[in-house]
Amino acid sequence: METVSEVFGSMVFDDRVMKANLPEDVYRSLRKTIDEGSYLDPSLANEVAQVMKNWAVSKGATHFTHWFQPLTGITAEKHDSFISPSPDGGVIMEFSGKELIKGEPDASSFPSGGLRATFEARGYTAWDPTSYAFIKGKTLCIPTAFCSYTGEALDKKTPLLRSMAALNKQALRILALFGNTDVKYVYTSVGPEQEYFLITKEMYDQRPDLRYTGRTLFGIQPPKGQEMEDHYFGTLKPRVEAFMEDLNVELWKLGIYAKTQHNEVAPAQHELAPIYTRTNVATDHNQLTMETMQKVASRHGLVCLLHEKPFAGVNGSGKHNNWSIQTDRGANLLKPGDTPYDNAQFLLFLCAVIKAVDDYQDLLRLAVSTAGNDHRLGANEAPPAIISIFLGDELTAILDAIEKDIPYAGTEHLQMKLGVDVLPRFSKDTTDRNRTSPFAFTGNKFEFRMVGSSDSIACTNIMLNSAVAESLKIYADRLENVDDFETALHEMIRKTIKDHKRIIFNGNGYDNAWIEEAEKVRGLCNYRTTADCMPHILDEKNVQMLTSHGVFSKAEIESRCEIMLENYCKTVIIEANTMVDMAKTDIAPATAAYSAHLAAGIAEKRGLGIDIPCDYEISTCRELSFLTDDISAKVKELEDALLETGSSEDIIAEANMIRDSILPRMGELRASCDQAEAITSKDYWPYPSYGDLLFSVR
Ligand code: ADP
Ligand code: MG
Repeated sequence: METVSEVFGSMVFDDRVMKANLPEDVYRSLRKTIDEGSYLDPSLANEVAQVMKNWAVSKGATHFTHWFQPLTGITAEKHDSFISPSPDGGVIMEFSGKELIKGEPDASSFPSGGLRATFEARGYTAWDPTSYAFIKGKTLCIPTAFCSYTGEALDKKTPLLRSMAALNKQALRILALFGNTDVKYVYTSVGPEQEYFLITKEMYDQRPDLRYTGRTLFGIQPPKGQEMEDHYFGTLKPRVEAFMEDLNVELWKLGIYAKTQHNEVAPAQHELAPIYTRTNVATDHNQLTMETMQKVASRHGLVCLLHEKPFAGVNGSGKHNNWSIQTDRGANLLKPGDTPYDNAQFLLFLCAVIKAVDDYQDLLRLAVSTAGNDHRLGANEAPPAIISIFLGDELTAILDAIEKDIPYAGTEHLQMKLGVDVLPRFSKDTTDRNRTSPFAFTGNKFEFRMVGSSDSIACTNIMLNSAVAESLKIYADRLENVDDFETALHEMIRKTIKDHKRIIFNGNGYDNAWIEEAEKVRGLCNYRTTADCMPHILDEKNVQMLTSHGVFSKAEIESRCEIMLENYCKTVIIEANTMVDMAKTDIAPATAAYSAHLAAGIAEKRGLGIDIPCDYEISTCRELSFLTDDISAKVKELEDALLETGSSEDIIAEANMIRDSILPRMGELRASCDQAEAITSKDYWPYPSYGDLLFSVR
């Protein structure tokens, strides 16, 4: 048995392998590209490719692929083998620098939201040296960005890297103002906590809704749900434990720092948290984690459900995007400091985030918007669809004191003059109590909890990085040109607090009174569905901000909007069709058969004499017969509504139609079917129940 340190990263072309195998100058140059995002000299590619191939072949790899994240789906790859014919009729294993740097997958099968029509059918992938190559199965995977021939991004990584570059540029300007000129590079780090459900393959196979859509479209609550909350603290079931052990090893091999695993609140729900790392690497790792979870689950006869809301009425799954800003000198810019100057710098970065989140609430909201996550956000156990920031009482009181120039009650320092006073120490503990906040400051990082469990974290971090870069730019533009830096800084922080404090909310985010207050009093956005929020990516202020930092071109924004809405529509239509099919061919026949069975029983009993009671049979038979007709009528209504889809003049109109006409009819059909499930004999009901699914793994 190998030790963890032997296993860890054994399938990764990481720093250790590069250092040991690359010529010194090549290594140094590549390292510089990785650390500082500097330009990579293409002449080095051949040597890197040689060493990479030899290493991969020694690990048993036969193929290579340019691995990337298309705009929909987890990841994409097309495998090419290393083999080339040799003159003697055999083969040699070959891999050139050209093949490492650039690939040309057929782009026509990936969504491009109109970009393809306007530009070019083909696309190319470009090596991202900042994310290490790795081996999956027998394939060397080279993390890449995916672009059209005219340079438009067709993936999620390209804009993510651009957003990190934008934030780096603006943060360095701010740091220089504070005299921190030794910092060469600023990057954001993320530790994404990943929630998921595990059920048995046997149960999964019996549910067409899970197989086609990833979530249950019918089903009533089990007698025991999560009210006992015993699952969370409970010991792991042996099968789950075996799965997690196996998963850890697979993730460690890929250099993924899987650290903690535990049960979540709902039965069958679990969580995995990695140690945080650079955002683009964390994004790649999270995609790999999701893929590996599904693969390992299947080895254990299990299925890993990554959908945001696999079971109605049961906790949904999300990702907590723990995000911070770090320097190449190892400092966390969101960590309160020990000196007055450090504190002022911390407060400025904190304010940059507060301003960014308030100014670009809509972008953060739409970054997490999918048909699946719509079922979760705003449900009782998930953050609401409204964005607000939790800072904790202490930090809020400090900001309040700064804004109003009044003494802060919690410290002996009377006035909070920036650059002079030391920030009072506030304990991390008091900052992490509120689990209902969508965007919580947890001591030295922000935790964004609205991200859906199946979603890539790329979109969220693109928006977050860009919006914060914008705040920092506004600050730097002003502060670089003032005579009295400290006074200007103080005023700037005060102004941010005054203008943006509406976004700070420390109370219960699940409370209905908050929704009222947020919308009516504070004027915060409350976009309930994907159809409501996605079009706002095209708002002038958003296009202006994103294009000015070079994160997206206007055409890329338009294409993304199109793709996301298209994806929303397609997802719901597949669900609706699945419902129609299940209701028509399984559920209605089952309720009809059971009511017929009851009717036969009634007739039989009556034949035996009139004084044998059959109230149960009669009332159930009546109710079920009504419900069967009702189900059949609702199927028809849904089918009629589906006939109307696909005819809208544009994708926004189509998405609105899906929201207003398809989803409500799906809800009605489900309600009738669920009512029927509650009174139908288990022997007749065609599917495993919620209880069967949620308590299937022992
Ligand atoms: P919990 O939420 O269970 O209390 P932590 O807050 O310590 O646990 O960590 C949760 C996640 O946040 C982990 O993935 C961790 O690596 C990540 N994390 C911790 N510190 C930072 C940071 N400075 N930047 C980004 N992510 C972080
Ligand atoms: Mg956490």
